[in-house]
Amino acid sequence: MNVTHTAGVNRNDLLAIHGGKSIIGEKDTANTSLRWGQPEVTAVTNALREDSLFYWKHKSVKLLTARFQRHCPLEYVTPCSSGTAALHIALIAAGIAPGDEIITSPITDMGTVIGMLYQQGVPVFADLEPYSYNLDPAAVEAAITPRTRAIMAVHLCGNPCDMQALRAIADRHELVLIEDAAQAWGAEYRGRPVGTLGDIACFSFNDFKHVSCGDGGIVASSNEAYGRRLQKAADKGYDRVSGNRMVEELAPCYRMSALQASVAAAQMERVREIAGIRNRLGTQLREGVASIPGLRPHAVRDDDYCSFWFSMTRIDPDAFSCSRDTLVKALQAEGLPCSGGYIAVPLYRYPAFQNGNFFSGRWPLREAGLTDMDYKKVDCPEAEAILETAINIPVNESMDEAWIRLVLEALHKVASHFQV
Ligand SMILES: *Cc1c(COP(=O)(O)O)cnc(C)c1O
Repeated sequence: MNVTHTAGVNRNDLLAIHGGKSIIGEKDTANTSLRWGQPEVTAVTNALREDSLFYWKHKSVKLLTARFQRHCPLEYVTPCSSGTAALHIALIAAGIAPGDEIITSPITDMGTVIGMLYQQGVPVFADLEPYSYNLDPAAVEAAITPRTRAIMAVHLCGNPCDMQALRAIADRHELVLIEDAAQAWGAEYRGRPVGTLGDIACFSFNDFKHVSCGDGGIVASSNEAYGRRLQKAADKGYDRVSGNRMVEELAPCYRMSALQASVAAAQMERVREIAGIRNRLGTQLREGVASIPGLRPHAVRDDDYCSFWFSMTRIDPDAFSCSRDTLVKALQAEGLPCSGGYIAVPLYRYPAFQNGNFFSGRWPLREAGLTDMDYKKVDCPEAEAILETAINIPVNESMDEAWIRLVLEALHKVASHFQV
């Protein structure tokens, strides 16, 4: 990738935040693309022609399952009500019991840990790699205790985790490896679709994800023991396959309706294209950022395919005369819709964790002596530093190469102005 984005910009150009002309103008705004088209309209209409919208046996749920399997070839597939639900179902299927520890990332959606807490498991946060923003396998290994039962690998931003290393750790310690692929539709680890690398895969169709049906999720596995439990774990413990309603185990009701499935099935046809555009533009952005002093691009391994749910660029704080937040404000003034970091703080800093307030001010697990976890004592310095020094730049399928060139021009202009 050449660096033509630097042409015509120099450190004397007046920043827009100081009254200069912005790099990105009204006319340059990324195209708006319609997320739903005729295929979704037709699918919903057809779904409504059936007498029942119940998920079990409905055509649209079968279609969604088949299309998902084409994309991510796993044997047992259960569509469900959200990504959070998919993750909770995975933990039930994996047999997580009170006091069991699950090692995961401190920079993720709250949905990653909700199921852990409801199952009376203990989220254990391990620190991250500095530029991929994914779990650092060495930190995962160091976090293992006799109570560890699972690793929940979050492919943040659609960037695959180091699955070979995590798989080796899981195998060595007999842990279940669950993939939170909510942000990773279309991503590939060494040529294999994410979701096929761990024991159980979880995806989200919420409104902000690559593909959506408003809200929805899908959980899948090729492991027979876990796979066979997925459907029951999503449907009150009722076994729809055998028809057995003698409930053997507590399970929530996280069913997906046939209407959701009809839209999700239509959206599955777009995954490859959407991931392809995001991969191309995110890579262009990464390569351009690499040539701007003081900025560190989002790290993606050469043999991986990142589907860029968004992208994060880290700054070297010593390279600039101003704070990250000032850089963000200056970039916004240039017309770049960026923001600082991702979530405000690592998950363990949320008041619910700090105060152990999981069940009406209480945490029965701790009261019963089944864990001595105190989230006030948790510290993941790299995760903290990532959130303090990252600039979040959206990448999506409504954008094109010309847009990314403007983004890079804005980054170059602002960065060179504040360089020390
Ligand atoms: C979106 C998301 C979830 C939760 O998905 P929902 O469908 O909103 O419940 C879980 N984990 C990650 C990493 C996510 O980005």
